[in-house]
Amino acid sequence: MNCLYCNSPHVEKSNFLRPTIFNKRQFTYFKCKDCHTISIDPTPTEAEKAIMFSPVYHKTYYPEEVKFEYPEIFALAEKYNSTCKSLLDFGRGNGSFLSYFKEKGGYECTGIDYGADLINQLQRTYPGIHFYTSEQFSDADIKEKFSIIHLGDVLSHIDRPNDLIQHLITRYLDKEGIMIVEGPMENNFHLALVFRKLISGVYSFFFKKKMAGHIPYHLTFTTADGQKKLFEKNGLHMVYWKVFETAWPYNDKPGNSIASVMKYAIAKLSIFISNHTSANFGNRFIYIGRNKA
Ligand SMILES: [Zn+2]
Repeated sequence: MNCLYCNSPHVEKSNFLRPTIFNKRQFTYFKCKDCHTISIDPTPTEAEKAIMFSPVYHKTYYPEEVKFEYPEIFALAEKYNSTCKSLLDFGRGNGSFLSYFKEKGGYECTGIDYGADLINQLQRTYPGIHFYTSEQFSDADIKEKFSIIHLGDVLSHIDRPNDLIQHLITRYLDKEGIMIVEGPMENNFHLALVFRKLISGVYSFFFKKKMAGHIPYHLTFTTADGQKKLFEKNGLHMVYWKVFETAWPYNDKPGNSIASVMKYAIAKLSIFISNHTSANFGNRFIYIGRNKA
């Protein structure tokens, strides 16, 4: 297999992420020696993705509420976008993000997501916004170019992120337009990751646990370097970059057990270090790139 991010053939089996079984198939993780992104092999089939990304998934992980990061993204969009106000959101899974832009800034909004049920539901809730499945969007043969294309928490779920970014830029991004991308960088250096790797190593070594039991929602676990290279090589010129830390999945409130209190302390410390260093420490990013075309 090749790295799903930079396409390098130089990959080795990940000793951080153990293989998992989903839908009676085994999924294994490989780390790229060039960009250090971890990729899954094989990638889930369309039928498996339909099981994973049901409307229940979106309701659980991306509920219809205004999230704390919307004002920040809105302010960045207003600062860096110099053309008309047309916004294409690819794969957020809820309409509240687009609705926020429409109400606050009068943006003409279009949303694309996975699954006809979800799209019908969104279209009923937000009649002033155009929603499509990716198939409907291709079929509609839209000629419009968008001044902003936004992807929030999408790339880690995509099996060909290069192709998607390139397609969106060449086909739908205005010549003067910008792309705003947010998401996790789960193999980027941050303190909580060191602990996760340590614990994973202990499990494999002492408990001989060869198999994990999670659903493989994320197909890639990338780094700051891998992430930036993906955008640059597909025709974007970086104008804004921010790395920050949420310490997921260690950010819960401290519970009653010693383990949960420790995880909470690690999360707090990890977030503190990320906030007080200029290095790229952290597990999430915001990127803005201008179309080089
Ligand atoms: Zn790579």
